[in-house]
Amino acid sequence: METWSTYHHQKDLAARLLVKVKNLAAAIASKLGRRPVIMEVCGTHTVALARTGLRSLLAGCIDLRSGPGCPVCVTAPEEIDYMLCLARQPGVIIATFGDMVRVPGSSGSLEKARIEGCQLQVCYSPREAVTLARSNPDREIVFLGIGFETTAPAVGLAVKEAAALRLKNFSIYSAHKLVPPALATLAADPELKLDGLLLPGHVSAILGRQSFAFLAKEYKLTATIAGFDALDILGAMLELLVQIQRGEAQVSNAYPRVVSETGNLKAQEILREVFSLAPANWRGLGLIPLSGLKLNTAYQAFDATRRWPLELKPVPSPAGCLCGSVLKGLCLPTQCTLFGRRCTPLRPVGPCMVSSEGSCAAYYRYSREA
Ligand code: SF4
Repeated sequence: METWSTYHHQKDLAARLLVKVKNLAAAIASKLGRRPVIMEVCGTHTVALARTGLRSLLAGCIDLRSGPGCPVCVTAPEEIDYMLCLARQPGVIIATFGDMVRVPGSSGSLEKARIEGCQLQVCYSPREAVTLARSNPDREIVFLGIGFETTAPAVGLAVKEAAALRLKNFSIYSAHKLVPPALATLAADPELKLDGLLLPGHVSAILGRQSFAFLAKEYKLTATIAGFDALDILGAMLELLVQIQRGEAQVSNAYPRVVSETGNLKAQEILREVFSLAPANWRGLGLIPLSGLKLNTAYQAFDATRRWPLELKPVPSPAGCLCGSVLKGLCLPTQCTLFGRRCTPLRPVGPCMVSSEGSCAAYYRYSREA
């Protein structure tokens, strides 16, 4: 009984919040002469907005754009090609999160490399790769480190464990990306004209609200940290719209049950101990200074790029694929002429259709009419 009453209460609350959000967005739109442009930065938000139907329900009053928040999607084509080269090195076993396996590079995907005879192990945590290295002392285990501040601490812990065990056959390829520098790039982009950002709850849980305060101070951009269910998103959207209407550039936290002001200090400490900042190449956003992580001197023995210094050649995007523009919020997945025709989750052309958090996959699965 209690479950049903909670469900109905939440449904009522969501319906009332939705009306408030729509009314406020409409008032702002009439003032601006256009719908307010709001970007959801996180891939989990992209999926949640599609799955809950909120993207369709808000489409008339808010110009919602998806951002570079899917870790697989923002991995640069050159990085994917490097991973494929690694997979083809003799004696190497690639350990990776499952999302990377089907991402196409210029010479196939890891899935295709496995069919060709390369060794691949899908892991749910980087520590599994350390275990794999211990049980395969005659093979080289390379873990593909992709993702944001959320996954990097676990990769850092795996490196520390490998160092403590003095493993000689374990390394990582660090293609990690950091969210705040990417947001600074988007905030400074005159082409985008963003009115507000819905900030990622998971990354914020690691970094804390204060790590995003620069958006308001330096770029006069309003932003709100949001959780992931419909009520969380609507509450954060309302908070964001109130700030936009008042003309107040603020970075607020609408997910305080998970996100604190300073974030997860332990995870930040691991990041600082194992990694240092480095430039990173983002699909769609290009090279951004200090937006990646490389291993610190003490852990350089675990750097795959030192063991296999393979040359990364520039790789063009697949013909017709607009993933770069989708990740930058410049176009919707449905504006790509390949969407749903030549590019589907079963036969993906670009990474945004492969990943479970990719915008194109989310649009395909939940809102092809959008
Ligand atoms: Fe790329 Fe496919 Fe998305 Fe087009 S629909 S942008 S080809 S992933």
